[in-house]
Amino acid sequence: MTLTLTDVTLTYPDGDTRLTALDRVSLDVPAGTLTAVVGPSGSGKSSLLAVAATLVTPDHGRVVVAGTDTAGLGRSGKAALRRERVGIVFQQPNLLPSLTAAEQVQVISHLSGGAARGVRSRALELLDAVGLAGQADRRPHQLSGGQRQRVNIARALMNEPAVLLVDEPTSALDHERGAAVLDLLAGLTRDRSTATVLVTHDLAHLDRVDRTVTMEDGRLTAAPAPA
Ligand code: ADP
Ligand code: MG
Repeated sequence: MTLTLTDVTLTYPDGDTRLTALDRVSLDVPAGTLTAVVGPSGSGKSSLLAVAATLVTPDHGRVVVAGTDTAGLGRSGKAALRRERVGIVFQQPNLLPSLTAAEQVQVISHLSGGAARGVRSRALELLDAVGLAGQADRRPHQLSGGQRQRVNIARALMNEPAVLLVDEPTSALDHERGAAVLDLLAGLTRDRSTATVLVTHDLAHLDRVDRTVTMEDGRLTAAPAPA
């Protein structure tokens, strides 16, 4: 299922005027493909993800998430869509210090009222998929930064999202670990058929993605693949 943004404009209040964070942005991300959004700080990348995640309602334009036009949804409808269809990975893993890696993933299912049965084995399966087999009982302080980011990614996959939104996942990682996380995201996108959007200001590793677009002053332009 595709993620489609059509002619999306988003403004924020800015003193007496409004700041245009997204300026008539259109983006189509088919299932099973990974689109990278690059661009300078303040260009609107996180705003784009917030709109795609239905966390923020645009001033104009259409946002269709996995076949559902979000315009017709109220607050609780959006929350349900987000819970059931969208996986979000923020820059900071934001793990709970007292929980093991498996528990961090399991708790997502409990929060959304998923069946308790099989939750542990699903969590272990996902930790395995993100390269953390054997680390399931470790707590955050026993994991490296890269491993914590992998737990974060496993957590976002727990509800089998159709749309996966990832904001600057490699900014705290060194080059090699950044490459490994990109490889992981590319593989998961294919294996799980997610429509994945990856925001990054890191131009390395973009050979792993299906498409790269550039954000500048709230405008999206298609960019050629980096050499
Ligand atoms: P990026 O992720 O590319 O750094 P953002 O989407 O965070 O860009 O921000 C785009 C623009 O919108 C920036 O000028 C930023 O200051 C502004 N902005 C972002 N979030 C808010 C907000 N909640 N309220 C007001 N302005 C915001
Ligand atoms: Mg940002």
